[in-house]
Amino acid sequence: MGSNNLLAEKRLSELKGIGPKSEKLFGKVGIDNLDQLIHYYPRAYDAYKECVPVGELVSGEKQAVIIHIKRPPVIKTGGRAALTILNAEDITGKIEIHWFNMPYLRATLKRGAVFIFRGMVIRKNNRVIMEHPEIFTLAQYEDVKGSVQPVYSLTAGLKNKMIAKAVKQVLGKYAFIEYLPDDIRNKYGLVDRDTAVNKIHFPISEKELKDAHKRLVFDEFLVYLLRLSKINENYKETENNYKIQDTSEADRIINNLSFDLTGAQKKVWSEIRDELMSSHTMNRLLQGDVGSGKTIIAFLSMISVMSKGYQCALMAPTEVLAAQHYNSFIRLLRENSIDTEQVLLLTGSMTAKEKRESYEKIASGEVKAVIGTHAIIQYKVEFKCLSLAITDEQHRFGVKQRGIIAEKGILPHILVMSATPIPRTLALIIYGELKISVLDELPAERLKIKNCVVDTSYRKTAYSFIKKETDSGHQAYIICPMIEPNEDLGCENVIEYTKKLKKIFEPDVRVEMLHGRMTAEEKLNIMNEFSENKIRILVSTTVIEVGVDVPNATVMMIENAERFGLAQLHQLRGRIGRGDAQSYCIFLQGDSKEEDNKRLQILNKSNDGFYIAQEDLKLRGQGDLFGLRQSGMAGFSLADPFGDADILIQVSELVKEIIKEDPDLSGEKYGLLGNMLEQVRNDIEGIL
Ligand code: ADP
Ligand code: MG
Repeated sequence: MGSNNLLAEKRLSELKGIGPKSEKLFGKVGIDNLDQLIHYYPRAYDAYKECVPVGELVSGEKQAVIIHIKRPPVIKTGGRAALTILNAEDITGKIEIHWFNMPYLRATLKRGAVFIFRGMVIRKNNRVIMEHPEIFTLAQYEDVKGSVQPVYSLTAGLKNKMIAKAVKQVLGKYAFIEYLPDDIRNKYGLVDRDTAVNKIHFPISEKELKDAHKRLVFDEFLVYLLRLSKINENYKETENNYKIQDTSEADRIINNLSFDLTGAQKKVWSEIRDELMSSHTMNRLLQGDVGSGKTIIAFLSMISVMSKGYQCALMAPTEVLAAQHYNSFIRLLRENSIDTEQVLLLTGSMTAKEKRESYEKIASGEVKAVIGTHAIIQYKVEFKCLSLAITDEQHRFGVKQRGIIAEKGILPHILVMSATPIPRTLALIIYGELKISVLDELPAERLKIKNCVVDTSYRKTAYSFIKKETDSGHQAYIICPMIEPNEDLGCENVIEYTKKLKKIFEPDVRVEMLHGRMTAEEKLNIMNEFSENKIRILVSTTVIEVGVDVPNATVMMIENAERFGLAQLHQLRGRIGRGDAQSYCIFLQGDSKEEDNKRLQILNKSNDGFYIAQEDLKLRGQGDLFGLRQSGMAGFSLADPFGDADILIQVSELVKEIIKEDPDLSGEKYGLLGNMLEQVRNDIEGIL
């Protein structure tokens, strides 16, 4: 057994059965080395449970039944695929079992034989159908019964088995070093690290999975909070190096706006303004639901420091959003006759030459405001005098990035903005000892978004509805969970969906797509054309999830809505309902699971992020871990500050103790922890 420290340096090709071709496939889902492979946690688990009588089968579940075959299957041709149908029953009821394109099954499914069939159950108008089940003999099923198989997110060509096999090899080859002292593990009831990493992929029971999950969540919080404590140390009662004497420039802008600030915006702006003018450095979280108008507050802060000759930076998690902020900021400056030359857009996809020139202008102080992605925090960027650093959609960044930007100046003012509805107590832990401003009011004239949750049979109706909306000049988003065709047949993808819609809507209505695998330039072009209303329907992945602001878009239709977390769906929905017109959100449920429907109904009922988060939490509390869903809060793979609040609070107490005892984590007890922190993997730092 080797040590796991260097997994990040080991390529997948060192594993048996993985050549260059498979390596590429893994790369597509972001797995380029063994460390990333091990941290590619299952999105769900498939438990091989006891067989169920036909009468008790539940729609939308994968279940197993024992069938004594009395009649051979019939084969129906004529549709797209030959359908093999086995009409069967037990004493509790009748069931139809369907397979596509497998007529040769007739040879196996003989009268008198007994098999176990395991597959997705659909109940429709008193019929019970099982689609494309696996087939086992009684003895074969006995062997797998009770086992739990990991279910990974896949992409075309990359099969679940390939990932599971690769993970298994790594787990067999390497052990994971324990860095937590025994007394701490005992105190918090944590399994050892090696067990946790093994069992998160291959649990045998729900208990094992729960234990593994708890340990890994604990570790994610621990790493996060230890990092944060370093940043906070710097911000205790520091003197304000960039005192703003007056904010008349901001007042002028406010007077010129085409709208009145909401009461909440006025209150929050005065809190920020007062702090910028005070004797200490600002370190503040601005929290406000989607659409509450956080951007203008950021702009007012930026203009205030710029007017004093200081520099500021605004970071957004995606290029699309950064570019949009840049354009809006330039527009605002122009409207107020302020020099736009002093503003610069900095993104990762700029050429080396463009970057170099930008760096020079930033270093010389010629540029006063830098708007961009995390490219801003690259070490090469030197500010002459950074006085205010703002991050938008903070939950998409990790703590390290915030730390670096803070180091870019002599303790600049910090403003982090987030739509994540997180209770104050937890926010204080997650964001450190910063002050909190809340925008608890939406601009008044907005109409409430109308929602519906429907199944796939509603698609046609939805298309004609979308056509009506586009005919009246509006635009629509359609969201799919995947980029390209997938192993997982029940899941829509952007590429094929766009082709399909083009056939239906074009040439009258232009349809284009947007996804994360397009180049930055392609993405920006599409986004620009969409905001100029040249594209009427945009089929997209969740790349548009954060921040995008096209008020003319009035419809959003989300395919496979059940695949997303509620927080994420709420963010997505926040892209509409931004203008004066009535907006509509259609959640299309791709499966018929009652559980999923329950979750989606929460969104159907309410547009309030706080309410949604609370209800989501209640449901998740009841749900079983096998259907694990991730929080969507970047910086964490498994941990969810909201759902795992109890662990978060424990860890935050522990971190205080550790820091008191051994601030540098260099002593005997915490030395290993300190080492680990040094070399911790990138995903803790945020997914960008
Ligand atoms: P978020 O808080 O989600 O970042 P934005 O700052 O993007 O929200 O604002 C959403 C939209 O509302 C933008 O088009 C913005 O111009 C507009 N807006 C912001 N404040 C107001 C206001 N007080 N009245 C009307 N519209 C506003
Ligand atoms: Mg925003």
